[in-house]
Amino acid sequence: MATRLASALLNILYPERCVACGAFGLPLCEPCEAGMTPCSQGGRCPNCSGRWEDGGNCPRCFAWDALDGAITAFDLEGSARRVVHGLKYRYVEALAGVMSESVAKLPPAASFDIAYPVPLHRSRQRRRGFNQAALILNRIGWVGGPGRLERIRKTGTQVGMRHAERRANVRGAFRYTGPALDGLNVILVDDVVTTGATANECARVLKDHGARTVRIAAFARANYDHSVDAPILD
Ligand SMILES: [Zn+2]
Ligand SMILES: [Zn+2]
Repeated sequence: MATRLASALLNILYPERCVACGAFGLPLCEPCEAGMTPCSQGGRCPNCSGRWEDGGNCPRCFAWDALDGAITAFDLEGSARRVVHGLKYRYVEALAGVMSESVAKLPPAASFDIAYPVPLHRSRQRRRGFNQAALILNRIGWVGGPGRLERIRKTGTQVGMRHAERRANVRGAFRYTGPALDGLNVILVDDVVTTGATANECARVLKDHGARTVRIAAFARANYDHSVDAPILD
């Protein structure tokens, strides 16, 4: 009763508003949701969901030597960008629901054995108070993997780094401890895929422990030929 009263009061003081346009009602209103660009539209790299008009695989995911593919729901722009920022920097927790619904519908949902959230370094997680990737995965409810995948080295911001720099930056940043993953197909979950360098490094570690395939599913895909790329931190 007290909790319900408190939440009713909170709703009066801070009614739910659309993170993209400010309309009252939902964390993401229907028009703003409808305005996002699905990664199933337009010319796409079949391997990484990135925009790519030239057919075949794009040069970006060609650099992945452990990650087997990325599948993402929306381009990281407009409302989708607001959703990502709203969860990560403003902790609008309801947005984890919006994102997990989209990720759960992605095609690979039926073709993996176990899932891991892309881990944050514990100091960053402590500062932020949560790992957005884990929030999304928890809400989807996919079967988690055994053991523990963790980020053991702080990698700092990767904003503005090119793929090769990001790759060097994340090298050795992750560790898996637990039983062998022999023959298992793994899906990583995150809010955003940018270059995929972080997920590729997670994939390398998981494959060192026997994983057969490792792909990543995420809410948004950064197509960073944009001149106005706002910073996205891991
Ligand atoms: Zn809206
Ligand atoms: Zn690609």
